[in-house]
Amino acid sequence: MPSPAAGQILVKVHACGVCRTDLHVIDGELKQTRYPVVPGHEIVGEVAALGDGVGDFRLGERVGIPWLGWTCGKCRYCLSGRENLCDFARFTGCTIDGGYAEFTVADHRFAFRPPEKYGDAEAAPLLCAGLIGHRAHRMAGDVETIGIYGFGAAAHIMAQVARHQGQQVFAFTRPGDGEGQAFAREMGAEWAGGSDEAPPEELDAAVIFAPVGPLVPTALAHVRKGGRVVAAGVHMSDIPGFPYDILWASGRFNRSPTSRVPTATSSSALPKALRSKRG
Ligand SMILES: [Zn+2]
Ligand SMILES: [Zn+2]
Repeated sequence: MPSPAAGQILVKVHACGVCRTDLHVIDGELKQTRYPVVPGHEIVGEVAALGDGVGDFRLGERVGIPWLGWTCGKCRYCLSGRENLCDFARFTGCTIDGGYAEFTVADHRFAFRPPEKYGDAEAAPLLCAGLIGHRAHRMAGDVETIGIYGFGAAAHIMAQVARHQGQQVFAFTRPGDGEGQAFAREMGAEWAGGSDEAPPEELDAAVIFAPVGPLVPTALAHVRKGGRVVAAGVHMSDIPGFPYDILWASGRFNRSPTSRVPTATSSSALPKALRSKRG
């Protein structure tokens, strides 16, 4: 069993979600990964021991551990509330051991208190998929029609929020993935089809969760003038060359900071329900 160093908590794991990034780690696609490593970065558990200097958690308290596990606190990114971009950041289940274990340790400053109303298994996906979905959704802006490329964990949360806010969601899955398209419709998508199809109307914004570079020019071609395309994955295959026309005609391509690191710990990046004492 790991023992908590100063500033760390020992966590007895109750639930740990599965994220696409875990597969990137296992497949060796993230160059920063430290092997061997215990993957898993959507951890919900209870505090089983306190390291020196941890005063804000109690033994037995429920705690959530996200992807971003440590940052330097001194660089320009950390000092401007963008610690998810810190060059020295450490990541749960990637450069530090994660949650597919009975116990894990975590820096208490990067731990959350999941809202009581969610069970352990419900709260776990919020710690990565929920964070990414929220952040990408916010970057897409206050728009009426929004396309989602890749309908996995983050998308299924984001689609429900978007729908709740009155936005029209168009979901793109792998061509021929009828099951995925049915799921997208169940989650509130107005329309669902293959990524090789055109949406029924122009998109105000598109969010790409799929790790597929060729989707960037595809999405750009489907957003209207002045629209925005947000790349929200932690990893993506190479983006092919594309004619300037589709960029000129559609507007902006934003690499969401979540594409560098899929979660942020600044409280402004979190859904209100997830904000903790860290403010
Ligand atoms: Zn993740
Ligand atoms: Zn830093």
